[in-house]
Order: sequence, then C-alpha cells, then structure tokens
Amino acid sequence: MSFSTHNFNGQRALVRVDFNVPIKNGTIADDTRIRAALPTIRKILADGGSVVLMSHWGRPLKDIEKKPHLTLADFTLRPVAAHLATLLGTEVIFSDDCISEDAANKAAALKPGQVLLLENLRYYKQEEKGDKEFAEKLAKLGDVYVNDAFGTAHRAHASTAVIADSFAAGKKMFGLLMEGEVKAAEEVLNNSKKPFTAIIGGAKVSDKILIIENLLEKATDIIIGGGMAYTFFKAQGGHIGNSLCEDDRLDMALDLLKKAADKGVCIHLPADSILADKFAADAATSSAVSTEIPSGWMGLDIGQMAIEHFSKVISNSKTILWNGPMGVFEMDKFQHGTKAIAESVAAATTNGAFSLVGGGDSVAAVNKFNLADKVSYVSTGGGAMLEFFEGKQLPGIAAIKG
Ligand code: AMP
Repeated sequence: MSFSTHNFNGQRALVRVDFNVPIKNGTIADDTRIRAALPTIRKILADGGSVVLMSHWGRPLKDIEKKPHLTLADFTLRPVAAHLATLLGTEVIFSDDCISEDAANKAAALKPGQVLLLENLRYYKQEEKGDKEFAEKLAKLGDVYVNDAFGTAHRAHASTAVIADSFAAGKKMFGLLMEGEVKAAEEVLNNSKKPFTAIIGGAKVSDKILIIENLLEKATDIIIGGGMAYTFFKAQGGHIGNSLCEDDRLDMALDLLKKAADKGVCIHLPADSILADKFAADAATSSAVSTEIPSGWMGLDIGQMAIEHFSKVISNSKTILWNGPMGVFEMDKFQHGTKAIAESVAAATTNGAFSLVGGGDSVAAVNKFNLADKVSYVSTGGGAMLEFFEGKQLPGIAAIKG
C-alpha cells in the first residue's frame, strides 16, 4: 500500500512519528524531526482525513530510576504540540496519556482536518517491550496506521512494529519520510550502479565491523578513514604513535582485509595523516605517512595524499554511501579531510552519482559544510540506517512490508 496514492478522506490516520527532538527548558532547540513529518501530516489533512500523532521522547522510566528528582512531567511532549501548531498553522489537540479514555474520546471526536498529539509513549514500559495489549489499545485510535518514524525502525516496539498486526494489509503503510528513507537505502544496498563506493569513518572499527562485512558483498570500493583506520595500519605492522587503536581488534582488521582481497573489493586506507601532539583544538600539528607516525603524535585527520586518492575513487563512483567522518571534524584544524570528502561526494552527485549520507556524525558534517542539499539523500535515522546496511531486517519495515 502506497501512502502517496492512498486517499485519507474521512479516515483517521494513526501516525507514528519521531518527535524525539532536543527540548531545553520547554523550548525546542532543533525542530528538524518535526519539520520532517510535516509533508505526511499535510497530505492526510489535505485529503480530508484527521491525524492522531504518537511519538516517544527520551527515556523517561530509565532516567527517573537513575535520577529520582525527575518526574514524568519532565518528559512531556506538550511543547511539541505548541510548536507543531505553529508550523501547521492549525490547532493541535493534546491528550496527556496515550491510552487513556481521554485519548480515545479525543481521537473519536476528531473532525477532518484536525490533529491530535498523544503524550509520550514511553511513559509506559509496555512500549519498548513491544507489548501486544498496549499496541492493541493504541491501534484503536486510528482507522489506518502510518509509520513515519525511520529513526526507530530498528526497534520492535509496540508503536513501531507490533501495532501493525492490528491493521489489515491495505490499512498500514509508510509515511512519506519513511518511504523516502527506505527507497534511498534500498537503492544503495540492492540496486546500486557500479562502481559502488562505501566511505566508512568514525572513531571505532568495532562499531563498524558488521557494516563493512555486509558491504564486502555489495560494494566495489570501501574507503576507510577516521580513527578506525589506525587499527588497520597497526595490524599490518605500521607505527601509529598515539593514534586511536583497538588492540583487541587487530586480528579482525586483518581478517577483513583478507576477505576483501578474496572478494575483489578494493579497500582504500589513508596513505598520510594530519597529526596532533594532543587531542585538543589548540594542538600543535604535523603530517606523516600513516604507517610512520612518531610516538607522541596521533593522527586526527587524513592527509593531502589521502584526500587526492579518495577523491579520485569517489569521482569514479556511480553509487556512494557515506557513514562516519574522516577525522575530528569538530575541531577546525582537523576538519579539512572530512570537508574535502564531503565536497567530492557533492561533486560526484552533480555528475550523476547517487549518494546517501547516513549516520549521526557524517550527517552533522554535511550540514556543517552546507552540502546537505548537494547529495542525493541525507538519512534521518542513525542507528536504523546503520542496521539496515549491516544487512539486518528492521522490525519497523518488516511489520509493514511483511
Ligand atoms: P562514530 O560515532 O564512530 O562515527 O565516530 C565519530 C567520531 O569519531 C567523531 O566525533 C570524530 O571526532 C571521531 N574521530 C574521527 N576521526 C578520529 C581520529 N582520527 N581520532 C580520534 N577520533 C576521531
């Protein structure tokens, strides 16, 4: 069932959104996730339907257990209702309990064009447990179920997956945001034009093993940058000074290199590095070949040779996946490599490549360098996107697609 072609006229749509936005002292610090859900909400309202929105926010029960001065009220979605009303230019009704009689009454009374936001789903432990009864109570609030929360698609929670069992095949679907995410991810993983280059960076190789292993089956080239590259250099006998290294992953790094060679996948490591004498924005800097880093120095960015090499690989690619920065891009002195790679990905996209940027820090990087609109797709789902590319089936997707 496709959301775009479905007519919501006269229907009450129960929409799972991801409104887990940063809120400080009742003020929304970044409303990107709320804005991302607007097209879906607007389409339902424009069709003549009504909308019941549900979301989680933070980890109320876990946090209250650790910090007893907190109460559920510290985790309310009420500020989101007010902000959403401003964005939509229409009233947003609020129910302060997602499965109460009040919620049921307010949902039942909705007229076409009206919007109801339910209080934080995670006030109930049943949400994260994927409780069937809780999911069934939520399901009663809508005629159709729309999942537009890609950021939680890797969780088998009540509102993201279990709830779909209560709706017939024609009455459950992805929203526009989720549809876009799934389409972009599938395009890269299952339909990629070759050469397909995956750029994997970030701090730790241990976080990225599964994604690299899965990509060995799909990609023609894998660029490895960031802190994780030094574990590969050390494993091959290189001198990496004080660079980040996971000594318990040296064998695994060699194993990955061997598997890549066996499969004919080209692994590209940064030939040179920008060095720092300490992990700090005001560190003294130097540069060296990445396998000859003197002790007392650490690699915090890829060097010029690496930039040129990686850029050439990227410019020859027809499909590009990017997850993780090439260096400590948060510090000005070590942002150059990540910026150059972002620019190369943008240029390749202009020349016809399909590029997907996913995962928290690489998304932050393309935003920092104002290149988000120059790549094909920027994913909103960090953990979900990572698990998708690890080859796992995401419960939120499976619940709808079967
Ligand atoms: P991840 O969350 O694993 O994608 O890692 C992102 C983090 O890795 C960012 O905060 C970067 O500052 C950090 N990072 C990237 N390159 C390096 C490096 N060479 N040494 C230490 N940290 C790095």
